[in-house]
Amino acid sequence: MKKIIAVDGPAGAGKSTVSKICAARLGYTYIDTGAMYRAVALNNLELGIGNEELTEDFIKNIEIKLDEAARVFLNGREVTKEIRTPEVSRGASDVAKLGFVRKKLTELQREMARQGKVIMDGRDIGTQVLPNADLKIFLTATVEERARRRFEELKAKNFPADFAQIKKEIALRDKQDSEREIAPLAQAEDAILLDSTDLTIEQVAEKILELAK
Ligand code: C5P
Repeated sequence: MKKIIAVDGPAGAGKSTVSKICAARLGYTYIDTGAMYRAVALNNLELGIGNEELTEDFIKNIEIKLDEAARVFLNGREVTKEIRTPEVSRGASDVAKLGFVRKKLTELQREMARQGKVIMDGRDIGTQVLPNADLKIFLTATVEERARRRFEELKAKNFPADFAQIKKEIALRDKQDSEREIAPLAQAEDAILLDSTDLTIEQVAEKILELAK
C-alpha cells in the first residue's frame, strides 16, 4: 500500500473532496496545503497588508495548524470557514508567489507528512514538497466544468453566485499559479494524470484508491 499520496492540480478540480474521501477510506490523514496559504492570506487581509509589507521574520512568527479533522487554526484561532471567501482565494495566490512564505509552509508540510499514511493536496506537492511520494496524481478538469461545479456548490448553499465571474477568477488563479517563478503549479514527471471532467467524485476517488493499492 502506498504510504504517501500527493494530489496536485488547478483550482476547483475536486482535489480536496476526493482526497478527503480517500483519506477516510484508507485511514490516512488528509492535509490541505491550500488552507495554509489561505491562512497567511487571511492574516494579511485582517492586518490590511500586502506582499510588500511581508518579511521573513513576520512569516516565521505566524502559527498555522491543521488538526485531524482538517480544521484550520491561525495563531490559535479557528479560521476554517473564514479562509473560503473569493477574496482569500485571490490573496492566497498572491502570497504563494513569495519564496520565504513557500519555504516556511513547505517545511511545515514535510513535517506533517513525516509519520506517513498521508494524502496531501496542493499545487507543488509532487514536484517540490514530497518528490518521493509513493503515488502522485495530477487532477484536472476543464475550466468550464470546474466553474460549473463551484457555481452549483454555491447555489446549493444559497450563496450569491455568478458563473462568468467564477470562471474568470478560476482562470486567473490558474494562470497566476502556473506562471509564478517559484514552485509553479505543474504536473510531476511521474504523476498520473486524471481528468475528472466527465467523472463523478466517487469515480475519481475509486480510481485513486485503486492506484493506491
Ligand atoms: O487549493 P486552494 O485553492 O485552497 O489553494 C489556494 C491557493 O494557494 C492556490 O491558488 C495557490 O496559489 C496556493 N497554493 C500553492 N501551493 C500549494 C497549495 C496552494 O501555491 N501547495
